[in-house]
Amino acid sequence: MLLTNNLTVNEQGHLAIGGVDTVELAREYGTPLYVMDEGRIRLACRQFKQSIDNYYGGRGIAHYASKAFCCKEMCRIIADEGLGLDVVSIGELYTAMSVNFPPERIGFHGNNKTEEELRYALECSLGHIIVDNLTELETLDRIAGEMGKNARIMFRVKPGIEAHTHEFIMTGQIDSKFGLALENGEAMGAVKRALAMKNVTLGGLHCHIGSQIFDIDPFVMAADVMLHFIADIKEQTGYEVEELNLGGGFGIKYTEQENPSAYDLYMQKVSDKVKNTCAALKLKQPYIVIEPGRSIAGPAGITLYQVGSVKKIPGVRTYVSIDGGMTDNPRYALYQSRYEAVCANKADAPRDQTVTIAGKCCESGDLIGKDMPLQQVEPGDILAVLATGAYNYSMASHYNRIPNPAVVMVKDGTSRLIIKRETPEDLIRCDL
Ligand SMILES: *Cc1c(COP(=O)(O)O)cnc(C)c1O
Repeated sequence: MLLTNNLTVNEQGHLAIGGVDTVELAREYGTPLYVMDEGRIRLACRQFKQSIDNYYGGRGIAHYASKAFCCKEMCRIIADEGLGLDVVSIGELYTAMSVNFPPERIGFHGNNKTEEELRYALECSLGHIIVDNLTELETLDRIAGEMGKNARIMFRVKPGIEAHTHEFIMTGQIDSKFGLALENGEAMGAVKRALAMKNVTLGGLHCHIGSQIFDIDPFVMAADVMLHFIADIKEQTGYEVEELNLGGGFGIKYTEQENPSAYDLYMQKVSDKVKNTCAALKLKQPYIVIEPGRSIAGPAGITLYQVGSVKKIPGVRTYVSIDGGMTDNPRYALYQSRYEAVCANKADAPRDQTVTIAGKCCESGDLIGKDMPLQQVEPGDILAVLATGAYNYSMASHYNRIPNPAVVMVKDGTSRLIIKRETPEDLIRCDL
């Protein structure tokens, strides 16, 4: 039933995370409550780092994609683990800079960065700005000139790989709003333009083929396509790209049925491909960046709710209503994502009924999931939804003017608040 080894059932029959009783957490901090396990976050960071050390001689780095879960404490942990950071907005960058995240390890993504964002990125002297399109390239060159700066950039390239994942999060193919296409010469044109610019230095190439991908082959194919592009650039311009960013997208286990590959296997296969292709094309082996988001934050988190009404509609379904929903976890509403749920205070009982877990918003689509196995629950029980560490807090909204939950970090049997619960006063703070 349980998904990760940091989740256990304690002597009281309660679900525990990182050695902390979740029923106690709900009592102490209230619900809904996001709980993140620091040990699990650090473990994932180290696994990525080790796999780069083992298979690619340490000539690379993992950048945590902060959009998965971004707050000051997460940035501190990522910095402490020696990883880099991806940001996609002024808010994520501001959060990172507020805890003195080393700017040279930050990459700034996005398909439509504003001038304000580009200026801020230049002020911060980031490692790379990952340029998405020609308009952005021209703007950046101009702004950098005005500011007396030189912008280190990468280009986002669409390698034309279709990863087998949800259509909405499939971004490697030509019909995508992200990046420059290879097929029609758009990417090559941008490279040549950048090489001719005074205020821009081309540092590398980037691709990101999608998210929640289980199959390693698309990643390997993308690496191959990118290396061939590097060879083409070298042939046409004499310039050899030294850094290759292969993006993120590693799948995680949300339900019992899912079986993601080990990160180790990913790095092993991708490294082999890079080494072989470089030898065949007579290229230097590039420095490699990978950008895991979900796989670092996702399995580390759970969300705790309190059960309100339990509505049994005979012959139809049983609705278990909770005190949160799409405002703290919109992923079912967005993608029909699947989750596992456990009654935290009855975690040792069998999950012998099938329920639909419903949120409290004025939307019929406000569900955490349909037809989920669950223990017999009653009003007042604590419900835990598992593997919610990524794309939950970061996608939270204020629909129905519902305040965002608090976030608690657990570590070695202790807990600490890392994001305060919002209050109704917080919600009217910007109202005039
Ligand atoms: C979202 C994103 C990632 C992280 O994706 P995950 O599926 O969370 O690993 C990495 N790089 C870029 C450019 C992204 O947009």
